[in-house]
Amino acid sequence: MGGHNQPFVLWNEPLFWVFCWAIGGIIGAAINTRKGWDATVGFFGGFILGPVLVWLFLLQSDNKKGMGLKKCPYCAEWVKRKATVCRYCHKELPPDIPVNIPPPQAIPVYPTINFACPSCRQRLSAPCEKAGVTTACRFCKQPVTIPTHSDA
Ligand SMILES: [Zn+2]
Ligand SMILES: [Zn+2]
Repeated sequence: MGGHNQPFVLWNEPLFWVFCWAIGGIIGAAINTRKGWDATVGFFGGFILGPVLVWLFLLQSDNKKGMGLKKCPYCAEWVKRKATVCRYCHKELPPDIPVNIPPPQAIPVYPTINFACPSCRQRLSAPCEKAGVTTACRFCKQPVTIPTHSDA
């Protein structure tokens, strides 16, 4: 056995999938033969359906989260969402953090840079992505370099 301590995960086992496909194929073939269709069609239909059904079943167990349950981080047992102590391992549980809610995305903001023209002292403004760009002052037509920050 040696160095690898990969946890045993059922759906990582190729044999498990072979088993699913076989079951799916047999069920598919059985249904189709009953309906008088070609058994091979049924077999291949089931071949595809088998893993899908298993996958759905696995998803179903994940859906427990939506049923007022949460998984204990210590013993991986399903406990009530409002529980503060695990009823299996009696460890204190962290407060319930809602799952599957992505953190709010930072909305990119492009504030306006307000600055004074160095030649005529008139107030100018420019979008911040133009910082460092040299342009002509719209009042005195002298070249002005847009600063990176507002001066006031
Ligand atoms: Zn526990
Ligand atoms: Zn100016």
